[in-house]
Amino acid sequence: MYIFNHIHIMATNGIPCPTDASIILTYRCPMRCKMCNVWQYPTEKSKEIQPEELRTLPKLKFINLTGGEPFIREDLDKIVEECYRHSNRIVISTSGWFEDRVIALAKKFPNIGIRISIEGLSCKNDELRGHAGGFDKGYVLY
Ligand code: SF4
Repeated sequence: MYIFNHIHIMATNGIPCPTDASIILTYRCPMRCKMCNVWQYPTEKSKEIQPEELRTLPKLKFINLTGGEPFIREDLDKIVEECYRHSNRIVISTSGWFEDRVIALAKKFPNIGIRISIEGLSCKNDELRGHAGGFDKGYVLY
């Protein structure tokens, strides 16, 4: 599923053209946040957007990959590869739970942006996210 969240009117031909996209890769998530119910309605893997479906994206200024937890996707590198054909600026939103996967992806794509959500200091973060150790995993990535 794509969400184009900024529409810019191109001066050249007057046709509305998106400049930014947020792409929801999955509703699966290992966290159990109190402020979000996505984790209660996980998507089926086979029904999630596939890297080849992103070929139809236009040229964009910015792509945000989000979820759910994007790093739960084992093909995230293929998704990022395809996104780089459409934009130079890619940012992934994550809880940081899969810290090894975050580090591995950042090594493969050194220009990628990683946006780690932290909800407060250790106790408050883990209470809100419903998982002990979430703060430490996210914080270590900063
Ligand atoms: S980490 Fe994000 S997607 Fe997952 S349950 Fe929390 S707010 Fe929702």
